[in-house]
Amino acid sequence: MKTEFKTWVIAVDGYSSTGKSTVAKLIAARLGLTYIDTGAMYRVVTLEALRRGLIVEGQVDRAGLQSCLKDIRIGFKYNTALERYETYLNGEYVEDQIRGMEVSEQVSVIAAIDFVRIFLVEQQRAMGRKESVIMDGRDIGSVVFPDADVKFFMTASEKIRAERRYRELIEKGETVSFEEVEANIRKRDYIDSHRAVSPLKQPEDAIVVDNSNMTVEEEIEFMLRKIEEIRQKSTEN
Ligand code: C5P
Repeated sequence: MKTEFKTWVIAVDGYSSTGKSTVAKLIAARLGLTYIDTGAMYRVVTLEALRRGLIVEGQVDRAGLQSCLKDIRIGFKYNTALERYETYLNGEYVEDQIRGMEVSEQVSVIAAIDFVRIFLVEQQRAMGRKESVIMDGRDIGSVVFPDADVKFFMTASEKIRAERRYRELIEKGETVSFEEVEANIRKRDYIDSHRAVSPLKQPEDAIVVDNSNMTVEEEIEFMLRKIEEIRQKSTEN
């Protein structure tokens, strides 16, 4: 049975490769909410910057990037055959390209740029105002929607996260070593937690989910129970 929400925002933040999107998608399906993958939005901007040659040896041409933002339209479409949301850049399917190592290597540098965050946060807020959403990212509960109805903060041991991500990339046919994946996760977490604008940090009022030793089903049950508790409390008030 689906729960009734009057435009709710559920924030799912946390470290890289903690399975945020896996659980957020499943909860979206169970509760009839729209799922929004904000990491995909930073990845699209990074892909466009790479295509335009705006990132050279880790250095970003900020003026070039700022002027190209107006030409970037990000879209999500639900693929019913594969039962997943897929990402589009100006109408072009880019779901696979944005998940590869080339984009993963640069995305945290792009995501640390203030005007990129302003550009994307504005779009995320507009989406969350329109309908009930579950949004995953790094700053959803702290910056994008500090008044989110429910805030989760996901974590898991670095080794487990690297193993999950490595398996995922190998299954997709990428040629990558375990060490490379582990180093990328460590580097992204470091940049994400230490940047000046909207650093990744656990909101004080977030429910922490350490899924190192949990199955996805256990995790979903736990999170659904918490959502239901909060929903019931909000209807009592
Ligand atoms: O979620 P995902 O790992 O795909 O995100 C890719 C990168 O985008 C993160 O490492 C982070 O640098 C950035 N990001 C962010 N804020 C968000 C979502 C993602 O800075 N809300």
